[in-house]
Amino acid sequence: SKRSINNQELIEYRKQYLGKSLSLQYETPIKMVRGEGVYLVDQYGNKYIDTINNVAHVGHEHQAVVKAGQQQMALLNTNSRYLHENINQLAKELIETLPPELNVLHFVNSGSEANELAMRMVKAHTKQCDIIASEVGYHGNSNKCIDISSYKFDGKGGSGAPEHTHIFPLPDTFRGKYTGEDAAQKYAEEVQKLIEGIRRKGRNVGALILESIISCGGQIELPKGFLPKVYELIRNAGGICISDEVQVGCGRVGKHFWGFQLYNVVPDIVTIGKPLGNGHPLAAVACTQEVANSFANGMEYFNTFGGNPVSCAIGTAVLQTVKREQLQENALEVGNYLKRELEQLAKEFPIIGDVRGQGLFLGFELVDVNKKPLTQQAVYLADRMKAHKILMSTDGKDNNVLKIKPPIVFAKNHAKELIHYLTKIFKEDFMQV
Ligand code: PMP
Repeated sequence: SKRSINNQELIEYRKQYLGKSLSLQYETPIKMVRGEGVYLVDQYGNKYIDTINNVAHVGHEHQAVVKAGQQQMALLNTNSRYLHENINQLAKELIETLPPELNVLHFVNSGSEANELAMRMVKAHTKQCDIIASEVGYHGNSNKCIDISSYKFDGKGGSGAPEHTHIFPLPDTFRGKYTGEDAAQKYAEEVQKLIEGIRRKGRNVGALILESIISCGGQIELPKGFLPKVYELIRNAGGICISDEVQVGCGRVGKHFWGFQLYNVVPDIVTIGKPLGNGHPLAAVACTQEVANSFANGMEYFNTFGGNPVSCAIGTAVLQTVKREQLQENALEVGNYLKRELEQLAKEFPIIGDVRGQGLFLGFELVDVNKKPLTQQAVYLADRMKAHKILMSTDGKDNNVLKIKPPIVFAKNHAKELIHYLTKIFKEDFMQV
């Protein structure tokens, strides 16, 4: 009989033979062997509630999605230079969810690729290459994406903003540069200053790229009025606006299908990733006819895997599942319930300084009485939750924000279990400050 490789051997092999700049989740890593709905199951049969994975959007290994992929994979998979219904169907499903202006799609294989393509579109459309982005923003792992990701170039191993990247302060109204009534205006003025700085260099802004809720920044909701104002400033300067919906898109925020709709704006480009394939590598760039026409300047855009029949069957199944199972509505209802419960918890335990987010894209921040970040406690909390079979992640500028972004089949009973164990752990000594 085959001897099962123990976890230590897996770890040792990885250390030697797999890329060395990837960390493992948890001090004692877990070996997962199965997924089902909001659950991940480890090698010992332990079942964990997964509040981290916003990729397994409609639930881990959802049957409708698995079947769609298996069936098409057994029939045909090839590139999108042949005619096929699947690519048209996925385009139709997506266009139906978007504002009418955004009706051209390019299919790619990852969020990084989507933002990379968006950057090329900016250059083709505006003839400019200066990009304005948020502090602690993350947009992907390619060269150009790292260049616009303050989360990376301002972090470990980074070397600061490149010449053509212009970063405004994280628009955080809890612990950011501006926290008053006029915060939206103040942060918008910071963007205006960046536009003027680019002009002083004899250039012009190409684009703004921003998430609707800044995930790596620590689930930062944009202050009311900020986004419409900033879109206006960028457009007045000749630039275009990109909404990175890689994390927040496809119904997760509850009230709307897309995050930017929370702020009543229409971007020129929307990048879509993680949830679209429910774990299968599938991503997309939606743009206006104008941007698409500028990009089609004669140089062909070919993508070997993007838009293949298998990926498109899977994407279509995901979007149809969101609709059929009313998962956007679920994200709203359960998200609202969970947010209220967390706000109650914050009253009981003042270490929770702020609760924020929309739908099933929530976060809460741990601070002391002077609003100083409690990073250690946040990491401790995530680790203790693991002991109770609940997976949670931490993030933010100071890594003191617990993020909650589960598959959107997350139900009220899961929220109750989450709150139950959070309450238990907040009563422990280590959490008292
Ligand atoms: N944009 C955002 C907002 C992301 O969070 C990520 C991934 N964490 C990306 C882009 C890049 O996506 P991918 O890892 O699929 O390349």
